[in-house]
Amino acid sequence: MLAKVISGAVLGIDGYIVEVEVDMGKGMPAFEIVGLPDSAVKESKDRVRTAIKNIGYNFPSGRLTVNLAPANTKKEGPAYDLPIALGILRCMEMFPNSALDGVFFAGELSLDGSLRAISGVLPMVYAAQKAGYSRAALPADNAEEAALVAGMDVMGVRTLRELVSKLVANEWERTYADIDAMLKNNNDFTPDFGEVKGQAAVKRACTVAAAGFHNILLIGPPGSGKTMMAKRLPGIFPELTLNESLEITKIYSIAGLIDNKRALVTQRPFRSPHHTASTASLSGGGRNPMPGEISLSHHGILFLDELPEFKKAALEALRQPLEDREITITRVNGTHTYPCFFLLAASMNPCPCGYHGTSDKCRCTRTEIANYLSKISGPLLDRIDIQVEAPFVDYSALKEARPPISSADIRAQVATAARIQRERYAKLKITYNAQLSSGQIDAFCALGPDEHKLLKSAFDRMRLSARAYHKILRLARTIADLDNAKDIKTRHLAEAIQYRGLDRKYW
Ligand SMILES: [Zn+2]
Repeated sequence: MLAKVISGAVLGIDGYIVEVEVDMGKGMPAFEIVGLPDSAVKESKDRVRTAIKNIGYNFPSGRLTVNLAPANTKKEGPAYDLPIALGILRCMEMFPNSALDGVFFAGELSLDGSLRAISGVLPMVYAAQKAGYSRAALPADNAEEAALVAGMDVMGVRTLRELVSKLVANEWERTYADIDAMLKNNNDFTPDFGEVKGQAAVKRACTVAAAGFHNILLIGPPGSGKTMMAKRLPGIFPELTLNESLEITKIYSIAGLIDNKRALVTQRPFRSPHHTASTASLSGGGRNPMPGEISLSHHGILFLDELPEFKKAALEALRQPLEDREITITRVNGTHTYPCFFLLAASMNPCPCGYHGTSDKCRCTRTEIANYLSKISGPLLDRIDIQVEAPFVDYSALKEARPPISSADIRAQVATAARIQRERYAKLKITYNAQLSSGQIDAFCALGPDEHKLLKSAFDRMRLSARAYHKILRLARTIADLDNAKDIKTRHLAEAIQYRGLDRKYW
């Protein structure tokens, strides 16, 4: 007797179909799984055997062979417990073969026969839908996530016994995912800029960063509120579109980070890895590749607090993904590609003690300061358009009469600038000014005679590099967009130049 159960696996960000074939024959008792299983699949044998016994069936005494196809990809994780168990129970004729037709199955079994949530369900169910399957039966805790796939009829079950009785009775209980409600239920958990007093210049720099998707570096002494302001960045972006939400949800699904109460990720990610983070945990990788912090920040913010404290190799590994907006990890079992369209926000002190330039407490030598700053390489700095100083907030700002600008007000400005860019770049492969290539800069950032004069004098005065020239023009374009101005004017240019001023001061 041969049974075939449809299941899935994940490679990079995409799922694919895995066919689980179970053959039950006469002969010496044996239970083999073939098709390149890793250790987790081998452990699956023990769970399947025990779960089947514990829900009241006799485990078959003959020779059982399980084949996971295609054989040339590595299967990971416990997702095949359920399909293997169903294949065995089908060989025992516990339910009709038609019950398996057109249905996708995946899930981990506990020894008592209850089903546990698995990671990667969303991309797997997408693959099933693409392959023409219209039904999926999954652990109850994965059901809402799977139901996000349009046109998929999903049933969540708590135990293997419950599933078998549903298959016998030909019953199907559909799980609904109310996507509109999930998108609306986007109650801002992100803290608000309205709670931050003073720091008007830094808030403005954050506005420009969000509007044109420019990476930003905040430099200032400890206690100036750099981290507090960075945490408020996600709240000033436009709300996520459904497509963006689904892209992020896929990544979180693979990483096993889906909250089963809120299957759809509707908040822009804010990831703040510690400076001891390894290269693999930042960019992704490992023996069984997983998305790294840069991919978990997709469509959101990657915040690196105390930038010079990070390992140099880990920082250097960020350079390519910052250009390509995706990262590819090659392993023997295949090539894994994860998207990583994130805004890099970083903070640092001006010197090892943190007080250089603000307090005579600083006793750092010139060499110590130079060593500290040199931990951030030129090529990484090149990918950060905005540098801004966050000074200590003085007393007058703390008691200022007017309430500070709120995140909602900033978000409205950012949304206008984002819309202008979307329309301008509709025919191009870019969305934001930060993505403008040097050729595109010539086309979209034309300057008049007055603006040329201003830029030239700034160059002579500040001895700026050619790279700084491009950054200034990209930033000026964003500042003009925030101003709803068609052309870049001197006032836009002057503000953009100011965000480059720290190059000379620090590096
Ligand atoms: Zn110092």
